[in-house]
Amino acid sequence: MDFIPYATQSINDDDLAAVREALTSGWLTQGPAVPRFEQAFAQRHEVAHAVAVSNATAGLHIACLALGAGPGKTVWTSPNSFVASSNGALYCGASVDFVDIDPVTRNMGVAALSEKLEQAERDGCLPAIVIPVHFSGMACDLVPMRALADRYGFKILEDASHAVGASYNNQPVGSRYADASVFSFHPVKIVTTGEGGMVTTQDAALARRLQLLRSHGITREQSELLHPDTGAWHYEQHSLGFNYRMTDIQAALGHSQLQRIEGFHAARERLAKRYDQLLANLPLRLPARVPGPGTTARSSWHLYVVEVVPGPTVPDRATVFARLREVGVGVNVHYEPIPLQPYYRGLGFHSGQFPAAEAYAAQALSIPLYPSLTDPQQDRVVAALTVALQA
Ligand SMILES: *Cc1c(COP(=O)(O)O)cnc(C)c1O
Repeated sequence: MDFIPYATQSINDDDLAAVREALTSGWLTQGPAVPRFEQAFAQRHEVAHAVAVSNATAGLHIACLALGAGPGKTVWTSPNSFVASSNGALYCGASVDFVDIDPVTRNMGVAALSEKLEQAERDGCLPAIVIPVHFSGMACDLVPMRALADRYGFKILEDASHAVGASYNNQPVGSRYADASVFSFHPVKIVTTGEGGMVTTQDAALARRLQLLRSHGITREQSELLHPDTGAWHYEQHSLGFNYRMTDIQAALGHSQLQRIEGFHAARERLAKRYDQLLANLPLRLPARVPGPGTTARSSWHLYVVEVVPGPTVPDRATVFARLREVGVGVNVHYEPIPLQPYYRGLGFHSGQFPAAEAYAAQALSIPLYPSLTDPQQDRVVAALTVALQA
């Protein structure tokens, strides 16, 4: 039987034509396709500035730097995420801590954040940056998080890797409540550039810092040069930047993919609703639909994650997982808590610190969801899951 992956990209003839055109345009590395993609991305996300980077991990690194992470500073994120969410802060020499999740939304919990901030204020160790992760494409509850940021004086850096094109209270993620937001274009995500990422912000000065950090800290802008009269060859390095540029080939693909985003969203949303109906009577906890009380959201449905609710006649998650893989259904687990990774245990984290994230991780199962998944394939997933859940 054919293997159904949990996620896969969708590449059509328009995407192929865009890449072919980029390859023959005379530019390969960052050229005119990059700002074109940046502008289109900024427009779709209703944000002033978008800075394309080589991948979201690089974006998280330079966004942390640009927002002031460094030795002596602390950055908090969600334990229910990919390791890049916290690694970016460690690259800067900052220390990292985690805020437990809300068991319903699986996102960083507002109550947990608020309590941890109260404690940190008493202990004199407030974070410089908090990185909420829009897990599976559903936004975190950003209004109360913004209020806490203003009260305690930290920056918000959204890890919106899952949430390209998603919205919160009818506004695109990446536009309104965060100081900066990072998106990923890895092939399993909503739109792809092979490898790639984007940092958005409303702050022009921050966007300029990000552009410099993306390319060695080098400027050629006449108005920024300390020695502008040196000659036409002259450039200056003003900070310790990196080579985190996106290529024109990637940007051309990204621009083409972005033209298809509403179709991707509609397909994912339809399949998610269909899962909601088809799975309603199984011993599973299904994804939440709102980030918090009084909010609305449109998820980008990067992932459809069910939790296998333990019960006397319900096999454990590992058994369900193995049974599904055996019949060619590519399930996955998002995520084992970051602080329980061996590297993070080496930094002093241990089990028991983030009980909601651990309880969730013990039951979580990502089932296949991507725009080209057909109804018969989805029916096969549901049938296999039904059988796998039998005692
Ligand atoms: C995919 C992902 C990243 C890293 O993205 P890359 O583009 O692969 O570097 C970071 N955070 C989260 C939550 C992700 O899912």
